[in-house]
Amino acid sequence: MSLLDIIIPPVCHGCGTYLVTGENRLCMNCISRLPRTFYHLRGEDSPMVERFAGIFPFERAASWLIYSHGDVTARLVHDFKYHKFPRLARRLALLMAEELDMTGFFNGIDAIIPIPQHWSRRLQRGYNQTEYLARGIAEHTGLPVTDNLIAIRRHRSQTAMTLQQRRDNINGTFAVRHFERLNGLHLLIVDDVCTTGATMIEAATTLLNANPTLKISILTLASTI
Ligand SMILES: [Zn+2]
Repeated sequence: MSLLDIIIPPVCHGCGTYLVTGENRLCMNCISRLPRTFYHLRGEDSPMVERFAGIFPFERAASWLIYSHGDVTARLVHDFKYHKFPRLARRLALLMAEELDMTGFFNGIDAIIPIPQHWSRRLQRGYNQTEYLARGIAEHTGLPVTDNLIAIRRHRSQTAMTLQQRRDNINGTFAVRHFERLNGLHLLIVDDVCTTGATMIEAATTLLNANPTLKISILTLASTI
């Protein structure tokens, strides 16, 4: 507990109640009520698997929470993305990793690769929230976080675009550095929210084009249904 916590007691990002000892950023009640997708329990039937099937080869695909405008997930994502609460992203990712690990989701994965942010956006926001998500997963799994995927150009906001428009908009955004060091590795690409999947498709295909010996799995904190 910090001095600031004594002066301003921490409150839950979900419901605003004061947190008690042992709680961190979210109260137990809100954690239990987060809207899970349970996609990782559905195997080939998972909508995340269906979303990317036939577009690029992958081992596993999951998303932990359901995202819809105005719901608790959207509020939490907004807080960690725009309101300078990156540690909330880490906390949520840790909770996600604990639940997904029970079904062996991380078995065989060698490293976590967060969706990168262009330096100009990072300058604006001060941090990349997907790195905090990756660190939360790493905290539970012990897997290393790699920065081989980089953002070489900034793309326009993708809100209100179709999948094809998003794919055109994001095309050429990423590059891979030290691709030879990734030979034969199974990488888990991590992002915050999956809507059309355009960002994930661009990241995965950029990695696979740079090094076809890679295996890819994908995980987002939340997704639209
Ligand atoms: Zn709460």
